[in-house]
Amino acid sequence: MAFASSADLGAKRETLETLADGVYALTAEGDPNVGAVEGEDFVVCIEARATPAAARDWIARLRERTDKPVRWLVLTHYHAVRTLGASAFGAQHIVTSDRTRALIDERGREDWASELGRMPRLFKDASEIPGLTHPTRTFGSSMTIPLGGDRGALELHVCGRGHTAGDIVVWHPTSRTLFAGDLVEAQAALYTGDAFHDEWSTTTLDAVKRFRAERLVGGRGAVAQGIDACDAAIEQTRRFLRTLIDSVRIVHEARGDIRDAFARAHAALAPAYAHWPIFEHCLPFDVQRVWDELDGLEWPRIWTAERDRDVWARLVG
Ligand SMILES: [Zn+2]
Repeated sequence: MAFASSADLGAKRETLETLADGVYALTAEGDPNVGAVEGEDFVVCIEARATPAAARDWIARLRERTDKPVRWLVLTHYHAVRTLGASAFGAQHIVTSDRTRALIDERGREDWASELGRMPRLFKDASEIPGLTHPTRTFGSSMTIPLGGDRGALELHVCGRGHTAGDIVVWHPTSRTLFAGDLVEAQAALYTGDAFHDEWSTTTLDAVKRFRAERLVGGRGAVAQGIDACDAAIEQTRRFLRTLIDSVRIVHEARGDIRDAFARAHAALAPAYAHWPIFEHCLPFDVQRVWDELDGLEWPRIWTAERDRDVWARLVG
């Protein structure tokens, strides 16, 4: 099997949806989602895509709906395909959690090389990337961006560790819309190579669910519309995590081999999830991270292009 998503070169169909007055999401058949919320005289963009060129394509679509300048760029976590296009927005403020800032400093460079190797199609005109994206504003647990006029505010919240140590969600109370980053995927497989599986699948997803969102934009996949669909996306994320953890744990506790854990997790997850985007790509890295956690490695090991290939060769062959 071709390494990760290296053979996934077909263009995806992008869909720009207006979810409520001034609230937008661009989804793309399982490629990373982006969003935007209008303030009175500016726009807040959510996620930056992998390169300035890819970001410009998104901004051109956004310009079909509003010509307000982008004042704020909010990044839900540190991953390269979410952050490296930031320079294209010309935003006054780039916001992340404190922990995401630390992760960019600690492992942003290695992650860039890793993600470029895994998902080359997302890195359109990669030579234009000016360097790592460093936030200009960060926060510990919550932050509010007033939108001006009668537009209310946008709330940024840490819900706990999950997909990474630094994820945030973006909540727009006026329209009850939640941009959940990669903490929730709607009909797309989960990447958990940097995850804290137990916390994510319990208290973090519980906190995400407590918003009672009526619209949920996950990291990948379609927008969930209505409380039932939002809950279903959250619970489907939780089920993926629980199945993954349980499958790997059984083999680990029996002092088995990680290759058996991979086979067991694959067999357990495939019936429900194998037809979703990036399932085969993610699973080897996901299993490796659960295995590391069971070995007592609380802080995720840094993925490098070389380590990616080693794990792939060992688990997939
Ligand atoms: Zn991610």
